[in-house]
Amino acid sequence: MQHHTKIQYESPETIKKFQEEKLKEALAYLNAYSPYYKALFKKEKIDVSQIKTVEDLQNIPTTDKTDLQNRNMDFACVPREKIIDIVTTSGTLGEPVIFGLTENDLQRLAYNERLSFETVGLTQNDIMQLMTTIDRCFMAGLAYFLGAREIGMSICRVGNGIPELQWDTINRIQPTVAMMVPSFACKLIDYAKQENINYKHASLRKLICIGEPLRNLDFSLNTLGEKIASQWDGIRMFSTYASTEMQSSFTECEEGKGGHLQPELIITEFLDANEKPVRPGEAGEVTITTLGVEGMPLLRFKTGDIVVYHTEPCPCGRNTIRLSSVTGRKGQMVKFKGTTLYPPALYDIIDGIPDVVNYVVEVFHNELGTDEILIRVGTNKKSEQLEKHIKDVFRAKIRVAPAIVFESVEYVNALQFPQSKRKSIKFIDRRE
Ligand SMILES: [Zn+2]
Repeated sequence: MQHHTKIQYESPETIKKFQEEKLKEALAYLNAYSPYYKALFKKEKIDVSQIKTVEDLQNIPTTDKTDLQNRNMDFACVPREKIIDIVTTSGTLGEPVIFGLTENDLQRLAYNERLSFETVGLTQNDIMQLMTTIDRCFMAGLAYFLGAREIGMSICRVGNGIPELQWDTINRIQPTVAMMVPSFACKLIDYAKQENINYKHASLRKLICIGEPLRNLDFSLNTLGEKIASQWDGIRMFSTYASTEMQSSFTECEEGKGGHLQPELIITEFLDANEKPVRPGEAGEVTITTLGVEGMPLLRFKTGDIVVYHTEPCPCGRNTIRLSSVTGRKGQMVKFKGTTLYPPALYDIIDGIPDVVNYVVEVFHNELGTDEILIRVGTNKKSEQLEKHIKDVFRAKIRVAPAIVFESVEYVNALQFPQSKRKSIKFIDRRE
Protein backbone atom coordinates (compact mmCIF):
# COMPACT_ATOMS: atom_id res chain seq x y z
CA MET A 1 0.00 0.00 0.00
CA GLN A 2 1.25 3.45 -0.96
CA HIS A 3 1.48 5.90 1.93
CA HIS A 4 0.59 9.58 1.80
CA THR A 5 1.49 10.72 5.30
CA LYS A 6 1.56 14.39 4.29
CA ILE A 7 -1.91 14.57 2.75
CA GLN A 8 -3.41 15.64 6.10
CA TYR A 9 -1.43 18.90 5.87
CA GLU A 10 -2.70 19.82 2.37
CA SER A 11 -5.57 22.25 1.77
CA PRO A 12 -9.14 21.00 2.34
CA GLU A 13 -9.72 21.18 -1.46
CA THR A 14 -6.68 19.01 -2.20
CA ILE A 15 -7.72 16.55 0.49
CA LYS A 16 -11.23 16.31 -1.00
CA LYS A 17 -9.89 15.68 -4.53
CA PHE A 18 -7.50 13.06 -3.19
CA GLN A 19 -10.34 11.30 -1.37
CA GLU A 20 -12.56 11.37 -4.44
CA GLU A 21 -9.86 9.57 -6.47
CA LYS A 22 -9.73 6.92 -3.76
CA LEU A 23 -13.53 6.77 -3.73
CA LYS A 24 -13.62 5.88 -7.43
CA GLU A 25 -11.31 2.93 -6.75
CA ALA A 26 -13.37 1.84 -3.75
CA LEU A 27 -16.64 1.93 -5.72
CA ALA A 28 -15.18 -0.01 -8.65
CA TYR A 29 -13.87 -2.60 -6.18
CA LEU A 30 -17.27 -2.99 -4.47
CA ASN A 31 -18.98 -3.25 -7.85
CA ALA A 32 -16.62 -6.04 -8.84
CA TYR A 33 -16.31 -8.05 -5.62
CA SER A 34 -18.98 -7.28 -3.00
CA PRO A 35 -22.07 -9.53 -3.31
CA TYR A 36 -24.03 -7.13 -1.08
CA TYR A 37 -23.18 -3.89 -2.89
CA LYS A 38 -23.29 -5.43 -6.37
CA ALA A 39 -26.90 -6.44 -5.70
CA LEU A 40 -27.67 -3.01 -4.22
CA PHE A 41 -26.27 -1.15 -7.25
CA LYS A 42 -28.27 -3.39 -9.56
CA LYS A 43 -31.51 -3.00 -7.60
CA GLU A 44 -31.15 0.79 -7.36
CA LYS A 45 -29.91 1.11 -10.96
CA ILE A 46 -26.73 2.88 -9.81
CA ASP A 47 -23.89 3.30 -12.28
CA VAL A 48 -20.88 3.62 -9.96
CA SER A 49 -18.82 5.38 -12.64
CA GLN A 50 -21.24 8.31 -12.23
CA ILE A 51 -20.45 8.71 -8.51
CA LYS A 52 -17.55 11.15 -8.65
CA THR A 53 -17.74 13.36 -5.58
CA VAL A 54 -18.44 12.96 -1.88
CA GLU A 55 -21.76 14.74 -2.49
CA ASP A 56 -22.70 12.17 -5.16
CA LEU A 57 -22.65 9.53 -2.44
CA GLN A 58 -26.08 10.79 -1.41
CA ASN A 59 -27.48 8.94 -4.45
CA ILE A 60 -26.57 5.62 -2.83
CA PRO A 61 -28.69 4.15 -0.01
CA THR A 62 -26.98 3.88 3.38
CA THR A 63 -26.02 0.60 5.05
CA ASP A 64 -26.80 0.00 8.71
CA LYS A 65 -25.97 -2.46 11.47
CA THR A 66 -29.04 -4.57 10.72
CA ASP A 67 -27.87 -5.04 7.11
CA LEU A 68 -24.48 -6.13 8.42
CA GLN A 69 -26.07 -8.54 10.90
CA ASN A 70 -28.57 -10.06 8.48
CA ARG A 71 -26.27 -10.32 5.48
CA ASN A 72 -22.89 -10.55 7.21
CA MET A 73 -21.08 -12.82 4.73
CA ASP A 74 -22.48 -11.00 1.67
CA PHE A 75 -20.15 -8.12 2.60
CA ALA A 76 -17.05 -10.30 2.17
CA CYS A 77 -15.16 -9.46 -1.04
CA VAL A 78 -12.48 -12.14 -0.90
CA PRO A 79 -12.48 -15.94 -0.65
CA ARG A 80 -11.91 -17.36 2.82
CA GLU A 81 -8.32 -18.41 2.00
CA LYS A 82 -7.30 -14.74 1.84
CA ILE A 83 -8.55 -14.00 5.37
CA ILE A 84 -5.90 -13.91 8.09
CA ASP A 85 -7.44 -12.29 11.14
CA ILE A 86 -11.06 -12.89 12.12
CA VAL A 87 -12.55 -10.34 14.50
CA THR A 88 -15.99 -9.49 15.80
CA THR A 89 -17.68 -6.21 16.61
CA SER A 90 -18.18 -5.66 20.31
CA GLY A 91 -21.94 -5.96 19.98
CA THR A 92 -22.80 -2.78 21.90
CA LEU A 93 -26.17 -3.07 20.20
CA GLY A 94 -27.38 -6.53 19.21
CA GLU A 95 -25.48 -9.53 17.88
CA PRO A 96 -21.76 -9.26 17.04
CA VAL A 97 -20.78 -9.15 13.37
CA ILE A 98 -17.80 -11.05 11.95
CA PHE A 99 -15.08 -9.21 10.02
CA GLY A 100 -12.27 -10.89 8.12
CA LEU A 101 -9.01 -9.03 7.46
CA THR A 102 -6.60 -9.89 4.66
CA GLU A 103 -2.84 -9.33 4.70
CA ASN A 104 -3.41 -5.95 3.03
CA ASP A 105 -6.06 -5.03 5.59
CA LEU A 106 -3.62 -5.78 8.42
CA GLN A 107 -1.02 -3.56 6.76
CA ARG A 108 -3.65 -0.85 6.35
CA LEU A 109 -4.57 -1.23 10.03
CA ALA A 110 -0.92 -0.92 11.05
CA TYR A 111 -0.60 2.21 8.93
CA ASN A 112 -3.75 3.70 10.44
CA GLU A 113 -2.43 3.15 13.94
CA ARG A 114 0.98 4.52 13.04
CA LEU A 115 -0.69 7.74 11.85
CA SER A 116 -2.78 7.80 15.00
CA PHE A 117 0.30 7.44 17.25
CA GLU A 118 2.17 10.08 15.24
CA THR A 119 -0.78 12.43 15.77
CA VAL A 120 -0.25 11.95 19.51
CA GLY A 121 3.45 12.71 18.99
CA LEU A 122 4.87 9.25 19.66
CA THR A 123 8.18 8.10 18.17
CA GLN A 124 10.37 5.00 18.27
CA ASN A 125 11.81 6.33 21.53
CA ASP A 126 8.52 5.72 23.31
CA ILE A 127 7.52 2.64 25.27
CA MET A 128 3.83 1.82 25.33
CA GLN A 129 2.08 -0.20 28.01
CA LEU A 130 -1.04 -1.77 26.54
CA MET A 131 -3.81 -1.76 29.16
CA THR A 132 -6.49 -3.09 26.82
CA THR A 133 -7.14 -6.64 25.71
CA ILE A 134 -5.36 -7.87 22.57
CA ASP A 135 -7.27 -11.12 22.15
CA ARG A 136 -10.99 -12.04 22.37
CA CYS A 137 -11.49 -11.22 18.67
CA PHE A 138 -10.85 -7.52 19.44
CA MET A 139 -9.47 -5.64 16.43
CA ALA A 140 -8.14 -2.62 18.31
CA GLY A 141 -5.68 -4.41 20.60
CA LEU A 142 -3.96 -6.00 17.63
CA ALA A 143 -4.03 -2.67 15.76
CA TYR A 144 -2.13 -0.97 18.61
CA PHE A 145 0.52 -3.67 18.51
CA LEU A 146 0.86 -3.43 14.72
CA GLY A 147 0.99 0.38 14.83
CA ALA A 148 3.68 0.36 17.50
CA ARG A 149 5.71 -2.08 15.41
CA GLU A 150 5.27 0.16 12.36
CA ILE A 151 6.75 3.11 14.30
CA GLY A 152 9.45 0.97 15.85
CA MET A 153 8.30 1.75 19.39
CA SER A 154 8.38 -0.85 22.19
CA ILE A 155 5.07 -2.19 23.40
CA CYS A 156 4.37 -4.15 26.55
CA ARG A 157 1.08 -6.06 26.35
CA VAL A 158 -0.11 -6.26 29.93
CA GLY A 159 -3.80 -6.37 28.97
CA ASN A 160 -6.74 -4.82 30.77
CA GLY A 161 -7.43 -4.56 34.51
CA ILE A 162 -5.24 -5.63 37.48
CA PRO A 163 -3.85 -2.29 38.77
CA GLU A 164 -1.23 -4.12 40.85
CA LEU A 165 0.28 -5.80 37.78
CA GLN A 166 0.08 -2.52 35.83
CA TRP A 167 2.06 -0.66 38.50
CA ASP A 168 4.62 -3.46 38.82
CA THR A 169 5.15 -3.28 35.08
CA ILE A 170 5.29 0.52 35.00
CA ASN A 171 8.01 0.48 37.65
CA ARG A 172 9.99 -2.21 35.87
CA ILE A 173 9.60 -1.21 32.19
CA GLN A 174 9.31 2.59 32.58
CA PRO A 175 6.73 3.13 29.80
CA THR A 176 6.17 6.68 28.54
CA VAL A 177 2.64 6.08 27.25
CA ALA A 178 -0.31 3.87 28.13
CA MET A 179 -3.31 2.81 26.08
CA MET A 180 -6.44 2.44 28.21
CA VAL A 181 -10.07 3.12 28.92
CA PRO A 182 -9.98 6.45 30.84
CA SER A 183 -12.04 5.23 33.81
CA PHE A 184 -9.25 2.69 34.37
CA ALA A 185 -6.89 5.63 34.99
CA CYS A 186 -9.04 6.42 38.06
CA LYS A 187 -8.53 2.86 39.28
CA LEU A 188 -4.77 3.15 38.75
CA ILE A 189 -4.70 6.37 40.76
CA ASP A 190 -6.83 4.90 43.57
CA TYR A 191 -4.58 1.86 43.78
CA ALA A 192 -1.42 3.98 43.76
CA LYS A 193 -2.79 6.15 46.61
CA GLN A 194 -3.78 3.11 48.63
CA GLU A 195 -0.37 1.46 48.19
CA ASN A 196 1.65 4.66 48.51
CA ILE A 197 3.00 4.44 44.97
CA ASN A 198 4.54 7.70 43.88
CA TYR A 199 2.43 7.80 40.73
CA LYS A 200 3.00 11.48 40.00
CA HIS A 201 6.66 10.68 39.40
CA ALA A 202 6.00 7.58 37.31
CA SER A 203 7.52 7.38 33.84
CA LEU A 204 4.12 7.70 32.13
CA ARG A 205 3.63 11.02 30.31
CA LYS A 206 0.76 10.29 27.95
CA LEU A 207 -2.48 8.32 28.20
CA ILE A 208 -4.24 7.39 24.99
CA CYS A 209 -7.85 6.88 25.91
CA ILE A 210 -10.42 4.74 24.12
CA GLY A 211 -14.06 3.87 24.59
CA GLU A 212 -15.24 6.73 26.80
CA PRO A 213 -15.44 10.48 26.12
CA LEU A 214 -12.86 12.74 27.77
CA ARG A 215 -14.12 16.11 26.60
CA ASN A 216 -17.21 18.26 26.43
CA LEU A 217 -18.36 19.68 23.12
CA ASP A 218 -16.27 22.84 23.68
CA PHE A 219 -13.18 20.56 24.04
CA SER A 220 -12.80 21.29 27.76
CA LEU A 221 -12.27 18.14 29.84
CA ASN A 222 -15.49 16.48 31.00
CA THR A 223 -15.95 15.28 34.58
CA LEU A 224 -14.02 12.06 34.00
CA GLY A 225 -11.17 13.88 32.21
CA GLU A 226 -11.05 16.50 34.96
CA LYS A 227 -11.03 13.83 37.66
CA ILE A 228 -7.89 12.29 36.15
CA ALA A 229 -6.16 15.58 35.31
CA SER A 230 -6.76 17.09 38.77
CA GLN A 231 -5.16 14.12 40.54
CA TRP A 232 -2.30 13.41 38.16
CA ASP A 233 -0.63 16.62 37.03
CA GLY A 234 1.84 16.38 34.22
CA ILE A 235 -0.09 13.60 32.50
CA ARG A 236 -1.43 14.34 29.00
CA MET A 237 -4.59 12.63 27.82
CA PHE A 238 -5.50 11.99 24.21
CA SER A 239 -8.87 10.80 23.05
CA THR A 240 -9.29 8.41 20.15
CA TYR A 241 -12.47 7.22 18.45
CA ALA A 242 -12.55 4.07 16.35
CA SER A 243 -14.62 1.01 15.57
CA THR A 244 -14.23 -2.40 13.95
CA GLU A 245 -16.48 -1.40 11.05
CA MET A 246 -14.34 1.67 10.23
CA GLN A 247 -10.98 -0.15 10.50
CA SER A 248 -9.64 3.39 11.08
CA SER A 249 -9.38 5.81 13.98
CA PHE A 250 -9.81 9.48 14.73
CA THR A 251 -7.14 10.67 17.13
CA GLU A 252 -6.51 13.96 18.91
CA CYS A 253 -3.31 15.91 18.43
CA GLU A 254 -1.60 17.94 21.18
CA GLU A 255 -4.20 20.68 20.69
CA GLY A 256 -6.97 18.41 22.02
CA LYS A 257 -9.55 19.77 19.60
CA GLY A 258 -11.22 16.61 18.36
CA GLY A 259 -10.03 13.47 16.61
CA HIS A 260 -8.35 13.97 13.21
CA LEU A 261 -9.62 12.00 10.21
CA GLN A 262 -7.11 10.08 8.06
CA PRO A 263 -8.00 11.03 4.46
CA GLU A 264 -6.40 7.97 2.85
CA LEU A 265 -8.42 5.54 4.90
CA ILE A 266 -11.97 6.78 5.30
CA ILE A 267 -14.61 9.20 4.02
CA THR A 268 -17.08 10.49 6.58
CA GLU A 269 -20.51 12.02 6.17
CA PHE A 270 -22.51 13.41 9.09
CA LEU A 271 -26.25 12.84 8.72
CA ASP A 272 -29.39 13.94 10.52
CA ALA A 273 -32.37 11.68 11.29
CA ASN A 274 -33.60 12.14 7.69
CA GLU A 275 -30.17 11.23 6.30
CA LYS A 276 -29.51 14.81 5.21
CA PRO A 277 -25.99 16.17 5.81
CA VAL A 278 -25.62 18.43 8.85
CA ARG A 279 -23.36 21.49 8.96
CA PRO A 280 -20.09 21.74 10.88
CA GLY A 281 -20.84 22.39 14.54
CA GLU A 282 -24.12 20.46 14.39
CA ALA A 283 -24.69 16.98 15.78
CA GLY A 284 -24.88 14.24 13.15
CA GLU A 285 -24.52 10.48 12.79
CA VAL A 286 -21.07 9.38 11.63
CA THR A 287 -21.59 7.62 8.29
CA ILE A 288 -18.47 6.10 6.79
CA THR A 289 -17.08 4.80 3.52
CA THR A 290 -13.87 2.81 3.94
CA LEU A 291 -11.01 3.37 1.49
CA GLY A 292 -8.54 0.64 0.61
CA VAL A 293 -10.21 -2.14 2.61
CA GLU A 294 -10.02 -5.52 0.84
CA GLY A 295 -11.86 -8.04 3.04
CA MET A 296 -15.08 -6.32 4.11
CA PRO A 297 -15.21 -2.73 2.85
CA LEU A 298 -18.27 -0.64 3.70
CA LEU A 299 -20.08 2.07 1.79
CA ARG A 300 -22.12 4.76 3.55
CA PHE A 301 -22.27 2.69 6.73
CA LYS A 302 -24.25 4.38 9.51
CA THR A 303 -22.29 3.84 12.71
CA GLY A 304 -25.03 4.97 15.09
CA ASP A 305 -22.50 7.30 16.75
CA ILE A 306 -23.55 10.92 17.14
CA VAL A 307 -20.75 13.52 17.04
CA VAL A 308 -20.18 17.16 16.13
CA TYR A 309 -17.59 17.75 13.40
CA HIS A 310 -15.27 20.67 12.70
CA THR A 311 -13.64 21.77 9.46
CA GLU A 312 -11.45 24.78 10.41
CA PRO A 313 -7.70 24.10 10.12
CA CYS A 314 -6.16 22.89 13.37
CA PRO A 315 -3.24 24.82 14.92
CA CYS A 316 -1.20 21.60 14.64
CA GLY A 317 -1.07 22.17 10.86
CA ARG A 318 -3.46 19.44 9.84
CA ASN A 319 -6.41 20.45 7.68
CA THR A 320 -8.46 17.31 8.17
CA ILE A 321 -11.97 17.08 9.61
CA ARG A 322 -12.05 16.73 13.41
CA LEU A 323 -14.66 14.83 15.39
CA SER A 324 -15.88 15.61 18.90
CA SER A 325 -16.32 12.87 21.48
CA VAL A 326 -19.28 10.61 20.77
CA THR A 327 -22.18 12.37 22.49
CA GLY A 328 -24.43 9.35 22.17
CA ARG A 329 -25.31 6.23 20.26
CA LYS A 330 -28.46 6.29 18.24
CA GLY A 331 -30.00 3.13 19.67
CA GLN A 332 -29.26 4.31 23.21
CA MET A 333 -31.34 7.48 23.17
CA VAL A 334 -33.50 7.71 26.28
CA LYS A 335 -36.67 9.80 26.53
CA PHE A 336 -37.05 10.29 30.24
CA LYS A 337 -39.85 12.45 31.66
CA GLY A 338 -39.88 14.62 28.55
CA THR A 339 -36.10 15.01 28.36
CA THR A 340 -34.08 13.40 25.55
CA LEU A 341 -30.79 12.02 26.85
CA TYR A 342 -27.87 9.89 25.85
CA PRO A 343 -26.04 7.77 28.46
CA PRO A 344 -22.73 9.74 28.31
CA ALA A 345 -24.54 12.79 29.74
CA LEU A 346 -25.60 10.66 32.72
CA TYR A 347 -22.09 9.21 33.18
CA ASP A 348 -20.68 12.72 33.21
CA ILE A 349 -22.93 13.65 36.13
CA ILE A 350 -22.32 10.50 38.21
CA ASP A 351 -18.54 10.63 37.61
CA GLY A 352 -18.51 13.92 39.53
CA ILE A 353 -20.00 12.50 42.76
CA PRO A 354 -17.12 11.49 45.08
CA ASP A 355 -18.81 8.76 47.17
CA VAL A 356 -19.88 6.81 44.08
CA VAL A 357 -17.28 4.08 43.50
CA ASN A 358 -18.91 2.50 40.42
CA TYR A 359 -22.30 2.32 38.72
CA VAL A 360 -24.42 0.95 35.91
CA VAL A 361 -27.28 2.76 34.23
CA GLU A 362 -30.32 0.62 33.44
CA VAL A 363 -33.11 1.71 31.14
CA PHE A 364 -36.46 -0.08 30.93
CA HIS A 365 -40.04 0.53 29.88
CA ASN A 366 -42.61 1.20 32.58
CA GLU A 367 -46.22 -0.02 32.29
CA LEU A 368 -47.04 3.00 30.11
CA GLY A 369 -44.31 1.96 27.66
CA THR A 370 -42.14 5.02 28.33
CA ASP A 371 -38.49 5.00 29.38
CA GLU A 372 -37.41 4.80 33.02
CA ILE A 373 -33.85 5.11 34.30
CA LEU A 374 -32.45 3.26 37.28
CA ILE A 375 -28.88 3.76 38.41
CA ARG A 376 -27.24 1.02 40.45
CA VAL A 377 -24.65 2.83 42.53
CA GLY A 378 -21.78 0.94 44.13
CA THR A 379 -20.70 2.71 47.33
CA ASN A 380 -19.42 2.05 50.83
CA LYS A 381 -21.28 5.08 52.15
CA LYS A 382 -24.93 4.43 51.40
CA SER A 383 -27.33 6.75 53.19
CA GLU A 384 -30.52 8.67 52.59
CA GLN A 385 -28.46 11.85 52.38
CA LEU A 386 -26.29 10.42 49.61
CA GLU A 387 -29.38 9.36 47.65
CA LYS A 388 -30.88 12.82 48.06
CA HIS A 389 -27.59 14.45 47.08
CA ILE A 390 -27.29 12.35 43.88
CA LYS A 391 -30.87 13.18 42.90
CA ASP A 392 -30.31 16.88 43.60
CA VAL A 393 -27.21 16.90 41.37
CA PHE A 394 -29.22 15.28 38.56
CA ARG A 395 -32.07 17.76 38.94
CA ALA A 396 -29.63 20.66 38.84
CA LYS A 397 -27.97 19.43 35.65
CA ILE A 398 -30.75 17.84 33.59
CA ARG A 399 -33.92 18.81 35.49
CA VAL A 400 -34.95 15.20 36.14
CA ALA A 401 -33.71 12.59 38.62
CA PRO A 402 -33.48 8.85 37.91
CA ALA A 403 -34.22 6.15 40.50
CA ILE A 404 -31.16 5.28 42.61
CA VAL A 405 -30.47 1.84 44.11
CA PHE A 406 -27.43 1.30 46.33
CA GLU A 407 -25.45 -1.91 45.82
CA SER A 408 -22.14 -3.25 47.03
CA VAL A 409 -19.08 -2.21 45.02
CA GLU A 410 -18.41 -5.91 44.26
CA TYR A 411 -21.92 -6.44 42.90
CA VAL A 412 -21.68 -3.48 40.52
CA ASN A 413 -18.22 -4.60 39.48
CA ALA A 414 -19.65 -8.00 38.51
CA LEU A 415 -22.36 -6.27 36.45
CA GLN A 416 -19.74 -4.13 34.71
CA PHE A 417 -17.46 -7.00 33.78
CA PRO A 418 -19.55 -9.99 32.68
CA GLN A 419 -17.46 -12.98 31.58
CA SER A 420 -18.87 -12.94 28.05
CA LYS A 421 -17.92 -9.31 27.24
CA ARG A 422 -14.46 -7.91 26.58
CA LYS A 423 -15.38 -4.31 27.38
CA SER A 424 -16.78 -3.04 30.63
CA ILE A 425 -20.46 -2.18 30.64
CA LYS A 426 -22.03 0.94 32.09
CA PHE A 427 -25.34 0.87 30.23
CA ILE A 428 -27.90 -1.94 30.33
CA ASP A 429 -30.84 -1.56 27.99
CA ARG A 430 -33.83 -3.62 29.15
CA ARG A 431 -36.31 -1.98 26.80
CA GLU A 432 -38.27 -4.32 24.50
ZN1 LIG B 1 -4.58 19.04 15.30
